[in-house]
Amino acid sequence: MQLTLWTYEGPPHVGAMRIAASMHGVHYVLHAPQGDTYADLLFTMIERRGQRPPVTYTTFQARDLGGDTAELVKRHVREAVDRFQPDALLVGESCTAELIQDQPGALAQGMELTMPVVNLELPAYSKKENWGAAETFYQLIRNLLKAQAPTDINHDPKAWQQEGRRPRVNLLGPSLLGFRCRDDVLEVQKLLTLHGIDVGVVAPLGAGVEDLKRIPDADLNVCLYPEVAESTCSWLERNFGIPFSRTVPIGVGATHDFLVEVHSLLGMEAPAPDEGYKRSRLPWYSESVDSTYLTGKRVFIFGDGSHALAAARICSEELGFTVVGLGTYSREMARPVRAAAKALGLEALICDDYLEVEAAMAEAAPELVLGTQMERHSAKRLGIPCSVISTPMHVQDVPARMSPQMGWEGANVIFDDWVHPLMMGLEEHLIGMFRHDFEFVDGHQSHLGHAGGAGAADSSALSDIPGEGDGALHWTADGEAELKKIPFFVRGKVRRNTEAYARDTGCREISSETLYDAKAHFKA
Ligand code: SF4
Repeated sequence: MQLTLWTYEGPPHVGAMRIAASMHGVHYVLHAPQGDTYADLLFTMIERRGQRPPVTYTTFQARDLGGDTAELVKRHVREAVDRFQPDALLVGESCTAELIQDQPGALAQGMELTMPVVNLELPAYSKKENWGAAETFYQLIRNLLKAQAPTDINHDPKAWQQEGRRPRVNLLGPSLLGFRCRDDVLEVQKLLTLHGIDVGVVAPLGAGVEDLKRIPDADLNVCLYPEVAESTCSWLERNFGIPFSRTVPIGVGATHDFLVEVHSLLGMEAPAPDEGYKRSRLPWYSESVDSTYLTGKRVFIFGDGSHALAAARICSEELGFTVVGLGTYSREMARPVRAAAKALGLEALICDDYLEVEAAMAEAAPELVLGTQMERHSAKRLGIPCSVISTPMHVQDVPARMSPQMGWEGANVIFDDWVHPLMMGLEEHLIGMFRHDFEFVDGHQSHLGHAGGAGAADSSALSDIPGEGDGALHWTADGEAELKKIPFFVRGKVRRNTEAYARDTGCREISSETLYDAKAHFKA
């Protein structure tokens, strides 16, 4: 048992729903208790879809458990097939149904249906949503394509040159309830078209069964979201010989590396190294003098593996931030995240307990948090600016306007979104100089339309920073007054360093002098 209040990912059957709902002509029969239809809301309210997801629930109740639940499954399969006439059927269980072991997938496979039936075995007590999405996508493609797999694999990603046509790639991984997938696909399509590369199949988002069958016609697969598509891409590589790209094009540097990787796999000449500089505004915006104050800003990053990795690179290489915390809830991505953290001199935080993440965030005392919807809440509690970079997300992260994260335009969106929560340079400077303004008070961010005033002024030195409840340490009035002089966004860090110093030197009372001794100590 694990006491859980918030969870980063849903159960694996929600991942399966994401695949079914992203596609057309695919229906999902889900053996689940009454009430599980709550998951429909993720699609109709967060994704704001105009139709219900293509899911038929068996919605069994307590009284059904005394009867024949297997017959209930068969009836729902029959009704769903008659009513929706899908091109492929997914059949699986939710957590509760897994316990009664009706084997709904095997039952449906024995019903002699005319369309392909995919039996989903998603262990709800050990796996989560992204794994469920990846497994469903993989099983669906395997089911549809295994008969086509050649016995002798001789796929040549450069064949387009002899055939006198443009190179063609598939974009695999985008799905509903993924982070900005809708616009990422448009942006990557645009990027590839500029380089004379055609897009064959985009899947699962917007694809039908016939589209999936065309996947082997491409020269190369582009794995846009490894959490969802990596297992499928490696299966296609093993069985059809189709190579796939590993770089996720989020950020200017990563987009360039992605283009170089795709070009070299396709046997094309690599693009000019300064293309990102010309096509994205991020490099110039970040170099312009107005961004100087961003240098060295302490940032804490947490999210799914791909987005956390991309953010770490953008922060350290493209925005000049200092990454003070990096982690992910995607256990499948723990290894690359650990390596990236190590390269930044950090230890990666691999966990799915938001309280642990919040504690690590408070400990690192960053000036900016890049995280999920959960970190938005935690950062709000700690009074730290925050921007959302990854799922889980809320409805505001499925915006009406074009907002990719990938490609050149994605880098523009990222620059705006990540810098916006920070205090603007001039205001930061003025608040540091004059602390007695009645409106522009400590912690106030006028560009965000905060009212400021007494409330903001009061929550200053000690009260706004969660301490460790160490009753042995006491801040003197003059120590606290000195602490208040430190700009609020680095005050948390200064307080922690000073307390650590006091503890190390056996000092019980922290005065202004202790604070400056600690400052000198940590500078040394
Ligand atoms: S079956 Fe699973 S998803 Fe459905 S209500 Fe129970 S715990 Fe939640």
